[in-house]
Amino acid sequence: MERGGYEALRTRLVERLVKEGIINSEKVRRAMLRVPREVFVPPSHRRYAYEDTPLPIGFGQTISAPHMVALMTEALRLEEGQKVLEIGTGSGYQAAVIAEIVAPEGSEKRGHVYTIERIPELAERARRSLEEAGYSDRVTVIVGDGSLGYPDAAPYDRIIVTAAAPEIPAPLLDQLAPGGIMVIPVGGRFFQRLLIVHKSRDGSIHTKEGTPCVFVPLVGKYGWRHF
Ligand code: SAM
Repeated sequence: MERGGYEALRTRLVERLVKEGIINSEKVRRAMLRVPREVFVPPSHRRYAYEDTPLPIGFGQTISAPHMVALMTEALRLEEGQKVLEIGTGSGYQAAVIAEIVAPEGSEKRGHVYTIERIPELAERARRSLEEAGYSDRVTVIVGDGSLGYPDAAPYDRIIVTAAAPEIPAPLLDQLAPGGIMVIPVGGRFFQRLLIVHKSRDGSIHTKEGTPCVFVPLVGKYGWRHF
């Protein structure tokens, strides 16, 4: 499909998510209009890039459905200049959407996204897609167990976990800055709820339960040990 064809499909999907009330800020609307999801979807499934559905990216993993990306990005309440940690790079698409908001092109505020993936081949593919889409200067992809966080660049203004955890990993709470927000699916292996976690200025933690969701497992020391 031609570039213009994808753009038209992208616009139609984003405007539908706005109409459905899933996208409710101009920031998230703009970011999702700008990031080419088709670049992050394997060629075999590219024609479905603007269906509102998760798609396989290999190794038993998925790129999340656009409505889930929108919902989680809205819940993060991102601001330009923030430092964000993502656990579960997958395709790299969610990281690019976040980068569009915290570090838009030409911004002098030096926002940045650190994203961790446990499967090296996926991390490498995500790096290439982020490069192709023009985000490699604003997104750092790390290979490792993201349930441990990434202490090297902590603390983070925002943390997003895009794999399902049995409970909130303690290292992620430690690495969240005072005043920070974390969005994380928590629950059983096949069904979870999105939790929105606020760390107040005095360090106390307040958790709100959001929408039911279904994510692949967070596999690691502070996630699921076996699956
Ligand atoms: N955010 C991704 C995107 O935009 O394509 C979708 C993420 S996919 C639903 C979940 C990803 O989390 C998978 O790629 C999986 O390998 C990864 N994952 C699972 N456990 C992990 C861990 N402990 N550390 C880092 N990545 C992990």
